[in-house]
Amino acid sequence: MLLQFNLPIPIPIPCFPTSSLIDMGSFQLSRALLGSRRNWVVRSQASLTRFCSSGVIKGVSDTSSPSVHESPSASASEHAVANASEAILKSRTWNEHQLTADQLQFRSLASDFAENELMPFAAQWDEQKHFPVEVLRKAAGLGFGGLYCGHDVGGSGLSRADGAVIFEALAYADVSTTAYLTIHNMCASLIERYGTEDQRQDFLRELTSMDLLASYCLTEPNSGSDAASLQTTARRQAGSTDYILNGEKAFISGGGAADVYLVMARTGEAGPKGISCFYVDKDSKGLSFGRQEDKLGWRSQPTSSVILDDVRVPERCLIGKEGEGFTIAMSALDGGRINIATCSVGGAQFCVDAAQGYVSTRKQVNVWQSHH
Ligand SMILES: Cc1cc2nc3c(=O)[nH]c(=O)nc-3n(C[C@H](O)[C@H](O)[C@H](O)COP(=O)(O)OP(=O)(O)OC[C@H]3O[C@@H](n4cnc5c(N)ncnc54)[C@H](O)[C@@H]3O)c2cc1C
Repeated sequence: MLLQFNLPIPIPIPCFPTSSLIDMGSFQLSRALLGSRRNWVVRSQASLTRFCSSGVIKGVSDTSSPSVHESPSASASEHAVANASEAILKSRTWNEHQLTADQLQFRSLASDFAENELMPFAAQWDEQKHFPVEVLRKAAGLGFGGLYCGHDVGGSGLSRADGAVIFEALAYADVSTTAYLTIHNMCASLIERYGTEDQRQDFLRELTSMDLLASYCLTEPNSGSDAASLQTTARRQAGSTDYILNGEKAFISGGGAADVYLVMARTGEAGPKGISCFYVDKDSKGLSFGRQEDKLGWRSQPTSSVILDDVRVPERCLIGKEGEGFTIAMSALDGGRINIATCSVGGAQFCVDAAQGYVSTRKQVNVWQSHH
């Protein structure tokens, strides 16, 4: 069967019923942000061809041949590059998903960033377990560090759907790094939504710029799916308004590298109503980290346990009220789960495009593999 490379690939984009979105404020990325980044936004067939020529799509630049669209005047390798780049371009035809004009621009911005700042390095970062903090800060410079936060604290004021478009485009180049970025955004949005005005002003600017990186700490060695059974405690010290936190969190993305830990800990009764949420500084005395988890892929972000041994946290670092921590943690995950799924869609799309590029350049037993 002849594969129809010249047809746009229908990509299921998550559909977000507006009522279920977490409304973090304005649904428009600031025009100022877009205007100042206008030079990032221009995409072209030429840039995609460069993308393929660089050998990112293995087999495209270094093999002779096939062509879905034959032209006697062009060389075989030119055909290969043009065909593969066209497949990629068409697979990025998003209009059929009825994205808004703004979302198409966000996608363009994110795709350019992914192509230039993530794609060329992703494999090396994974191999070397390198957490690309500087590149994450560059992403924050485009507004990707505080997607759902208000403009007054350096955020972009976007919706969940806008964020999904951006994360999918970034994950096309690097799932692991993008997944961490989604978690950082989840933490910032949690403070945006549940923090007091003082907490927003005190904490968010450094998070939206990614001068400080954040981690989300819910899971424990004995509390995974059943998160409401968590055992980390936060007790008021007699004669003080401070809380003293004790316990261990497991599988924390950014563990050891992040500067801020949003920790769910028990301040009251057993079950979900006894849990509260705390902003914990990395430099807090008594905070330490377990060994880095070894993973298959997904190594450009560190993952470790976070150990709290009599960590003192001032009252002003309680996010929300006592007992609201479980609700806060779950509502953050409502968006976080969509974002992680979106990363998977982006990574899967890259695999489809790479496979298409490859079979359109490979001939076995005198038959182009794209013709099977
Ligand atoms: C790379 C990585 C990064 C992570 N980052 C973070 C992070 O940043 N912050 C954080 O808090 N956590 C993080 N996690 C933890 C993750 O959220 C947990 O792994 C998840 O909550 C599941 O918990 P668990 O691993 O203990 O699995 P378990 O709860 O033991 O579940 C194991 C399996 O059993 C199934 N299961 C559980 N209970 C039932 C039931 N009653 N009936 C039927 N099936 C059931 C589950 O669906 C699952 O498939 C990370 C994990 C990984 C692997």
